[in-house]
Amino acid sequence: MGDCVLWRLPPTPYLRLHEERHVLQYHVLGPFFLPLYFALLLTCGYWNHPFEKDARRASQCALPPLDFPHQN
Ligand SMILES: [Zn+2]
Repeated sequence: MGDCVLWRLPPTPYLRLHEERHVLQYHVLGPFFLPLYFALLLTCGYWNHPFEKDARRASQCALPPLDFPHQN
């Protein structure tokens, strides 16, 4: 919590940015972060959770570009 994120394995750039966004959310909301996170988790689920959606959006720039097959 706070500024500390523990990694068991080296994180991908996407995951690192995702978790850093949660750190920012924590800084903004302070002690309200965890109760609000879990309340929204119960009502919205993980995929539609506003904090998770925000973290996914913030980490999109770390994704590699899509590699479309060439058409001849
Ligand atoms: Zn997350």
